Amino acid sequence: MIRTGIGFDIHRFEAGRRLVLGGVEIPSPEGLEGHSDADVLCHALADALLGAVADGDIGQHFPNSDPKWKDADSVELLRHVVGRVRAKGFRVVNVDAVVTAQKPKVMPHAQAMRARLAPVLGVTVEEVSIKATTMEGLGAIGRAEGIAVMAVATVSRGA
Ligand code: MG
Repeated sequence: MIRTGIGFDIHRFEAGRRLVLGGVEIPSPEGLEGHSDADVLCHALADALLGAVADGDIGQHFPNSDPKWKDADSVELLRHVVGRVRAKGFRVVNVDAVVTAQKPKVMPHAQAMRARLAPVLGVTVEEVSIKATTMEGLGAIGRAEGIAVMAVATVSRGA
């Protein structure tokens, strides 16, 4: 059985924070605001995986009112979600994501993100796709107020 899920997340920039995307720290004068490390890519991927197995969303599993997830490493959050997927008898087939950011440049770091995330997802680097686009200056992302990510994940169970 093959199933697919979709995920979306957006975080605004905040000065003085680390910018972490896909578990990789990217040099930037500002990071993203959030209760955890605000890794918007990990969050979108986690929601896509939860969607694939119809298991709620990350707000439900990792409430931002819970001090346990304060400044949490979102790679660990993603690992936890992969555990939930496996507990339902599914394995990850592949994931694909689009990072929308006016700045900084994301693609120079995509390979490092794929290498970081593949073992967490239990797949090969070839099964992790990360793409990036600007918003051509349009809207909040275009004004460089934050970063948004759309992601899809496919999982399978059985032969
Ligand atoms: Mg988030």
